[in-house]
Amino acid sequence: MSAAGFTGAGLDRADHLRLDPDRIAALVAHEEARLLQLAEVDPILDEAGRLAWGPMEAEAELLFLGLEDGAPRFAPLVRMQSLGQRAWSVFRLLALMSARDAAIWAAARSLNEWHNRHGFCGVCGSATTLYRAGWGRICPGCGAEHFPRVDPVVIMLAQYEGRVLVARQPQYPAGRYSALAGFVEPGESIEEAVARELMEEAGVAVSNVRYVASQPWPFPGSLMIACLADAASDEIRLDARELEDAIWVDRAGVAAALAGEPDAPFLAPPPFAIANTLLTRWSRDGS
Ligand SMILES: [Zn+2]
Repeated sequence: MSAAGFTGAGLDRADHLRLDPDRIAALVAHEEARLLQLAEVDPILDEAGRLAWGPMEAEAELLFLGLEDGAPRFAPLVRMQSLGQRAWSVFRLLALMSARDAAIWAAARSLNEWHNRHGFCGVCGSATTLYRAGWGRICPGCGAEHFPRVDPVVIMLAQYEGRVLVARQPQYPAGRYSALAGFVEPGESIEEAVARELMEEAGVAVSNVRYVASQPWPFPGSLMIACLADAASDEIRLDARELEDAIWVDRAGVAAALAGEPDAPFLAPPPFAIANTLLTRWSRDGS
């Protein structure tokens, strides 16, 4: 099994400690407590290419990431200058990082962006304050509790007679194609979202939607749900507002793309993206 990116952090999130200020204070003061080093919210790597950790800082607002073999791990709450932005430089760093380090950083990044977006109560408009050791905000005005949100996104391959559908958006690097994706809407199942997105974006009708794998995606806080589905035909009717092109690729073409071969039919998504995991599993296991 190829593990999905941003998974396998291996931290004990210790939810039972989050609402206990005395226990959290003891963790902050713990001699093995460490604070994740961030450049705004981007990762900082040490000379070995691992996430850099530093001593606790008294002035920092803290997000409790969890326990690593009993040792407390925290991230700072940082004031983000531009929400929803992702620099391509982060993708270069992610390509160097282990899935485990990427997973730890992803939680810190998603939490930070959520806090920065939820300074005010969505119920009454009062300024909110951090609580639950970073895993929530509470409103002093109306008492509403707000919890970090995760947005479900389906990402899928339609398959038809030994080929799968991949597509490119205009902003992709040259040659890059990937699996189609879209947000799950209120009142919709994962299976219905997969079928709707494939119909809307590529005019492809599918059935037999099945789950393959999932991964967190910290830009800003998605859960990518990867699926495979059977297409009724290979006819494509492209939504040009969403996609620049879509092509059907056979198993050999997908394998060549994943191997980075120069004559491959497309440039594969990077290994930390679940589209890569999906293509890898399909090229190896098929349906
Ligand atoms: Zn409120």
